[in-house]
Amino acid sequence: CGIVAYLGNQEAYPLIIKGLKRLEYRGYDSTGVSVHQDGQLQIFKKVGKVAELENSLAGKSLKSTIGIGHTRWATHGEPNDINAHPHFSSSKQLSIIHNGIIENYNALKKELISKGYSFVSETDTEVLITFIEDIKTHNNLSLEAAVRQALFTIEGAYAIVIMDQDNPDQLIAARKGSPMVLGIGKEEYFVASDATPIIEYTDEVVYLNDEEIAVINRDGFKITSIENEELTPYIQKVELEL
Ligand code: GLU
Repeated sequence: CGIVAYLGNQEAYPLIIKGLKRLEYRGYDSTGVSVHQDGQLQIFKKVGKVAELENSLAGKSLKSTIGIGHTRWATHGEPNDINAHPHFSSSKQLSIIHNGIIENYNALKKELISKGYSFVSETDTEVLITFIEDIKTHNNLSLEAAVRQALFTIEGAYAIVIMDQDNPDQLIAARKGSPMVLGIGKEEYFVASDATPIIEYTDEVVYLNDEEIAVINRDGFKITSIENEELTPYIQKVELEL
């Protein structure tokens, strides 16, 4: 339902919480964030409002300049703490937030279970991130290449953002059928499902098109098609329908 991600010099967690609150008007049933701390990806998530997650984390120090956050509108699996996003891949090397529906997740899930993977949630999203991890490890690919290959195979709609434990300086985002906008600040980047969480930080945005993948690093970003052609990003002033 709602997506906010950040990579820059500020503390990601408070910024993401604030951004998720700006997306509350869309409606949702659960809230979650993933940050990179102590060399690991960590996930905090909960059924209920953004403020409830925030209260449950009060007093905890979450220090990370990269992070992803989500408000969920359940489509696959009831609203509960486990089905809330973000989701880990099987090894916990990757975390993902996802808007949309992976239509062929059941077939993929069966295939992954037959390979020995198990799942903790009932979501299509956990299947997607485990599928990406399987492609990455078995073919020894970069995360970007694995995401591209996985997105070729899946059917459905998605706006996704992925974090990698081994690379706290990179976010990978992609979309098809679900909106996604990239905000370009000064040495900082934002990703969101619409521009409302971004506008207080920058008015320069790139609206991703269907089947485009954005690889965002601390010193820049690139956008490629799912076929891996490099695209010239169209940076525009934010359009806000307030
Ligand atoms: N299909 C995913 C789920 O049920 C994402 C739902 C959403 O767009 O929030 O978890």
